[in-house]
Amino acid sequence: MEIDFSRLAHGLIPAIIQDSETKNVLMLGYMNAEAYKKTIETGKVTFYSRSKQRLWTKGEESGHFLNLVDIKNDCDEDTLLIQAEPVGPTCHTGADTCWQTPNEESYGFISHLENTIQSRRENADSEQSYVASLFAKGINKIAQKVGEEAVEVVIEAKDANDDLFLSESADLLFHYLILLQAKGYKLNDVIEVLKARQK
Ligand code: AMP
Ligand code: ZN
Ligand code: ZN
Ligand code: ZN
Repeated sequence: MEIDFSRLAHGLIPAIIQDSETKNVLMLGYMNAEAYKKTIETGKVTFYSRSKQRLWTKGEESGHFLNLVDIKNDCDEDTLLIQAEPVGPTCHTGADTCWQTPNEESYGFISHLENTIQSRRENADSEQSYVASLFAKGINKIAQKVGEEAVEVVIEAKDANDDLFLSESADLLFHYLILLQAKGYKLNDVIEVLKARQK
């Protein structure tokens, strides 16, 4: 793909780096013609660093390279969207992305759902919101609900109806996320326990 660097301010094009698998936006950097060429030749995302005033291959010191998967230019050909596979955390703080505080993990849709549950708990009327009504009934009731959904998953697992099994599984996960929040936790806390067991 040809890029007309002479049209761009300071001969630089901004490049948004996206994780090709999770679709998380990882970082933003600038490329000049040389950095772009080197990225394509080496398959490792390389920027022109304005602070270092030289080519900078992301990961050159840390080993946390960004392996090139795909490059697209935008509608008016002044911003790149680069899909890459990160080798390790992308931000120098140790976080996966430059918009994440270290250790704050992001689980896409599940994190979004956890935020919705939290906002219902804090702001919603328990007459109108099912989640708020569960929190109003207290932890024992929520735990009981998780138990009921778990039993329903067990029952559906024995039958051959996959739709019902998936639907009960969704109910279980949803109520489990609510129970975790009622206890002051998020799914990431459980995942940290699982990760520690792997060590
Ligand atoms: P690296 O390219 O990962 O070997 O890191 C080398 C240096 O580049 C670090 O010490 C930081 O100063 C800087 N750096 C690394 N990653 C980023 C990033 N995502 N955004 C901005 N600066 C970075
Ligand atoms: Zn556009
Ligand atoms: Zn544009
Ligand atoms: Zn960063």
